[in-house]
Amino acid sequence: MIRSTFAVIAMLCWAGTVMAQTEAEPEKGRWSIAIHGGAGTLERDRITPEKDAEIRAALNQALAIGSKILDDGGSAMDAITATIVSMENDPNFNAGKGAVFTWDRTNELDTSIMDGSDLSAGAAASINGTKNPILLARAVKDHSPHVMLSGEGANQFSREQGLEQVPPEYYATPYRLEQIDRLLSKEVSAADIDYKFGTVGAVAMDSQGHMAAGTSTGGMTGKRWGRIGDSPVIGAGTYADDRSCAISATGSGEYFIRLGVAHEICTRIRIRFPAAIAEAQLAVPKDSDGNYTYVIHASEFMLPDEEIQQIADDVIAELGTLGGDGGIIYATPWGQAGYSFNTPGMYRGRATSGGEASVAIYGDEQ
Ligand code: ASP
Repeated sequence: MIRSTFAVIAMLCWAGTVMAQTEAEPEKGRWSIAIHGGAGTLERDRITPEKDAEIRAALNQALAIGSKILDDGGSAMDAITATIVSMENDPNFNAGKGAVFTWDRTNELDTSIMDGSDLSAGAAASINGTKNPILLARAVKDHSPHVMLSGEGANQFSREQGLEQVPPEYYATPYRLEQIDRLLSKEVSAADIDYKFGTVGAVAMDSQGHMAAGTSTGGMTGKRWGRIGDSPVIGAGTYADDRSCAISATGSGEYFIRLGVAHEICTRIRIRFPAAIAEAQLAVPKDSDGNYTYVIHASEFMLPDEEIQQIADDVIAELGTLGGDGGIIYATPWGQAGYSFNTPGMYRGRATSGGEASVAIYGDEQ
């Protein structure tokens, strides 16, 4: 009751674009999740009906795993971790099994994860040996004093953490080997091969209103010299903040790093309403110790769907202006979950506590 009263006060403080959330909340609590399996030139004439069905099944499975955890009251962190593990284990995606090869015909995996409730984060770059790289990102976050580890040191940390290890050939699939061999024999260019980015990612809001984001990838086919993309870079490929949104990106990583895409989108959302929150907080009564009896949370405010979409689209348009291709998935503290991409398609899916659940590939699908 107190919550809804103050939500209404808050609403009045910023009429028009801010809405109270409390009335619409279903009993079990609101949650939402969005996933991606990469963006690119995903057009109907480039994908067989069998592959189309296989990818949709993989996306549906990953989405169902995350949705179940959220629906059971689990955390956004646990939901996105399990979702990403499922896609890392699927050879259709460029993450874990099925990762692309480097110029030296090795696999160097990049990954990151972020918890929006306290802005804690973990990342690992240029790793191999770990079966599920996202678990290493999470271990870096949970069990090290650092945010990002790389190369052999990160591999050693993974072993010390007792994470499941695999031999180097585990990641290989005939399709990825053929891709690197065609690239190295100069039959095709890197641009031809990376017409679809198969990186995986997930973002979610749980029933406590906490946000989380994670991304995992093999990077770009034929990468050299220890190249690291945006996926393990907090703020570029991954970002989560309870005050604004959770983002996971896929595409030409160099451009996502240069624009700080994930953080940029979250910041544009966050700065839309702090003044209104501060104003609403002033209206909350204080207890005998002078402390507020209730702290206004960002989730009591809402940016409408169109505004969130516009902010995401604006940043992706800027990415395109620089020359970058790809897209992002987003989740917000108001339960929205969606996408923005400048490529013909994106492997994607989303689900909410309201019962919506869908997966899509091509740009003209919802
Ligand atoms: N963003 C990744 C990278 O640049 C590639 C991808 O999304 O597939 O490493």
